[in-house]
Amino acid sequence: APIIVWFRRDLRLADHPALSAACDSGQPVIPVYIHDDQVASLGAAQKLRLDLALAQFAKALADRGSRLILRKGPALDVLRDLIGQTGAGAVYWSRLYHAAANDRDAAVKSALKADGIAARSFTGHLLFEPWTVETKTGGFYKVYTPLWNAVRGRDVAEPLPRPAKIIAPQHWPASDDLAAWNLRKPMQRGADILARHCTVGEDAAQDRLDTFITDRVGDYVKGRDLPGIRGTSNLSENLTFGEISPRICWHAGQRALRHGKGDAEVFLKELVWREFAYHLAHHTPRILTDNWKEDWDAFPWNTDITPQVAAWQQGRTGIPFVDAAMREMYVTGTMHNRGRMIVASYLTKHLMTHWKIGLDWFADHLIDWDPASNAMGWQWSAGSGPDATPYFRVFNPVTQLDKFDKDRAYVTRWIAEGQRKPNDDALAYFAMIPQSWQMRADAAYPDPVVTPEQGRRRALDAYGNRGF
Ligand code: FAD
Repeated sequence: APIIVWFRRDLRLADHPALSAACDSGQPVIPVYIHDDQVASLGAAQKLRLDLALAQFAKALADRGSRLILRKGPALDVLRDLIGQTGAGAVYWSRLYHAAANDRDAAVKSALKADGIAARSFTGHLLFEPWTVETKTGGFYKVYTPLWNAVRGRDVAEPLPRPAKIIAPQHWPASDDLAAWNLRKPMQRGADILARHCTVGEDAAQDRLDTFITDRVGDYVKGRDLPGIRGTSNLSENLTFGEISPRICWHAGQRALRHGKGDAEVFLKELVWREFAYHLAHHTPRILTDNWKEDWDAFPWNTDITPQVAAWQQGRTGIPFVDAAMREMYVTGTMHNRGRMIVASYLTKHLMTHWKIGLDWFADHLIDWDPASNAMGWQWSAGSGPDATPYFRVFNPVTQLDKFDKDRAYVTRWIAEGQRKPNDDALAYFAMIPQSWQMRADAAYPDPVVTPEQGRRRALDAYGNRGF
C-alpha cells in the first residue's frame, strides 16, 4: 500500500530519513503538504517564502516523476481523506519540537494508529533529539556551554543521499492549486522585492553552504560580527524550511575544521545554538509564550504600541544601527545577528517594552522565522530567558556602531535620509512600507526618540527598583 510522506519544515530530498524510509520500503510514495491552521497563522513574509518553497519543492519532486499533493484543512481530516482515496497504509513525517506542532502530531499519531494506519515520526530537523541530551543529574541543559561540551564530540551520522527512486502511485489524488492558496496576499506591498531577496530550494541551499565553506568560514569569527559584509552563511532561511538539513551543515563544518579552518568550530557552535533553542522549546514550551524566568512577570514592561514602539517598528527611532537593522528586515526578510541583538536590546531596555511585541513583529517580517530561535533570541536579549544576557547589560547602539560598522557600510546601505544618492536597498524600503507611515526618503533623518543614555538610565532604574 502507498505511504504518505507528510512534509512540513523539511522541504528537501537529501538527508530526509522519513522520505528515505518510505522509498526504501519499495511502496509507492505520496508526498503531501497540508495548509492547516498553523500555516494560516504564519507571518506575511513567511507565507510568501513558503509559497516560493512549495513551488520549488513541487518542481524537484516532478523532476523525479513524483508530485507534491497540496491540501487545505485540519491535518488529521486531510490525512484520513487521502488514506480513504489512495488506500495508503502508512503516514511518515519528520518531527518538529515546539508545543503546537507536538500537540497536533501526537493527536494525529494516536488517531491514525487507532485507524490501523502505521503513523511514524522520524528525526531530521535537529542534530540531536532533545531526549538524548541530558545533564549528569538527568535533566536538560539550561545553559548553553555545558550543552555544547556534551555534544561537540558526538558521532553524528553521515547525511543520507537523495532517494534513488520515488515510486509513484497508480492514481494520484487531487491536489489544490498553489496559487489558489494566495500565500502572497498578506504582503500588501513589495512582495516582488522581498521575493528577490529569497534563496529558495535545496540546490540553492547546498550552493550557499558550499560557497560559505569555501570562501568565508575561514574568517567567520571576525566576519560574522560585521553586518556591513557578507560574513555568515545566511542558511537560516533554508534551515527553517528544511531545504537543507542540519546534518549536512554539521558535516561540512567538520570537514572544514579538519582542513585547518579553525573558525569552522564557531559555525558548528552556532548550529548547536539552534539545537539549544529547540531543546528548550521541547522541555519548557512556555519559553515560546511567557517569561522563562517567572520573576520577570513582575517587571513593569510597556505592553502598548506607543509612538516610540511604532518608531521602532518603522525603522525611525533616530538611532542609525537600530533603524538600519529594522529596514534590512523589512526589505530582505532577514536581519544580521548583531542587528537582532541591538534592536531587541533597544526595544526591551531603552523602550522598556515587552519582548513579545518584538517577537511578534519579527514573526511577521522574517523569512527565516523559527519558533524556537526567535523566542530564545528575544528572551536572551530581554534578560528573561535561560542563559540570558543580564538585564543590566544594555547595548549602546552608538558605540556598537563604531565597533561593528566602522566604515558605516551597513547604515549607508539601509538609511536613505541625508544621502545625496541613496542606494537601491535604502530606497526599496520606501517602496515597500505602507503609505500611512508617512516616511519619505528625502526627509531629514529623525532625532532619537530615546537617546542611548536616557534609555539606559531609565531601564536600570526600573530594574534596580524591582530588586532583580
Ligand atoms: P550563521 O552565523 O551562518 O549561523 C549558522 C546557523 O546557526 C544559522 O543559520 C542558524 O540556524 C544557527 N544560529 C546562528 N546563531 C543562532 C542563534 N543565536 N540562535 C539560534 N540559532 C542560531 N534565527 C532564526 O533562524 N530564526 C529566527 O526567527 C531568529 N530570531 C532571532 C531573534 C533575536 C532577537 C535574536 C537575537 C536572534 C534570532 N535568531 C533567529 C538567531 C540568529 O540571529 C540567526 O540565526 C542568524 O542571524 C542567521 O544568520 P545566518 O544563517 O547567516 O547564521
